Amino acid sequence: MSAFPAFTAPLIAWQKNAGRHDLPWQQTRDPYRIWLSEIMLQQTQVATVIPYFQRFLARFPTLQALAEAPLEVVIEHWAGLGYYARARNLHRCAQQLVAVHAGKFPNSAVQLSALPGIGRSTAAAIAAFAFGQRSAILDGNVKRVLCRHFAIEGFPGQAAIDRELWTLAERLLPESDIEAYTQGLMDLGATVCTRSRPRCGDCPLAATCQARLGNRQSELPTARPRPKLPERRAGFVLISDGRRLLLERRPPHGVWGGLLVPPEGEAAAVLARLGLSAESRHDLAPLKHTFTHFRLTLEPVLCIVKPAPTIGEPGMNWITIDTAAASGVPTPIRKLIERIAGDAG
Ligand code: SF4
Repeated sequence: MSAFPAFTAPLIAWQKNAGRHDLPWQQTRDPYRIWLSEIMLQQTQVATVIPYFQRFLARFPTLQALAEAPLEVVIEHWAGLGYYARARNLHRCAQQLVAVHAGKFPNSAVQLSALPGIGRSTAAAIAAFAFGQRSAILDGNVKRVLCRHFAIEGFPGQAAIDRELWTLAERLLPESDIEAYTQGLMDLGATVCTRSRPRCGDCPLAATCQARLGNRQSELPTARPRPKLPERRAGFVLISDGRRLLLERRPPHGVWGGLLVPPEGEAAAVLARLGLSAESRHDLAPLKHTFTHFRLTLEPVLCIVKPAPTIGEPGMNWITIDTAAASGVPTPIRKLIERIAGDAG
């Protein structure tokens, strides 16, 4: 008995009523056709696979015919489907079946998964469709359905989450109707519980789906964790005469190219470079900003200078504090200016 009949029973009933039944590799127990379709479907959508499947079968109608064909001819008939390792493995697998298994597919998922190009999930699908074996499939679509329905947190590509999903997939297996159940999982993932905008209103699992009940469809499955970005720190000196701010136009290339920013560096060094002396200085709260390739902590210092001198350095501009935030400054600098404008106001 499935560990969760509220999952399996509606899925099986839905597949029988509303699932796909007329694909060219359905309505057969022929493991050769089922295997071929499963390999073609691994990285490719159904609509693309159908004409390839039919042409391939017309040229290689039996496992024997495929095993005897030169690899180049097999590749020729695969051309356009991509991921050519699949075609090479298909050919190797056919030859191995003929040489070692007398041209017959073994009927257990474990034995099938030992053959070239047949992973655990594909082996289970062949075992279910061709031999009615109770074996769990777990491809990308099924992972999405399980992660959403059972609110499984964590990136499914992580080994621990992958193990958890396999264990769950095996516990869910129904006692009977394995073909409709397996096909139901595939159909649901491909046509209803899609990556973006799943059609929960049409889903047979909606009543028990944790993602739907918590409105978390877009959060599950958990996305691949982003690599940790390098951290950088930089001082910015907000030099003001009480009414205006001194901003420097950046060169056209590089970070914030062409934008106005406060002079960057350590406060004393910046003031010395500009020939200024501060009447007062205040360390402001740091501000974090994330760029594509790093995270920057801005360490701002407000220096009040009087009276406002003319700055000889090119690119230096005195801008009134009220208008500075809207004068072509990058976002974190705008936030800093708004802080001091708020304090001045
Ligand atoms: S209710 Fe929505 S999110 Fe949940 S399994 Fe169905 S389609 Fe996917």
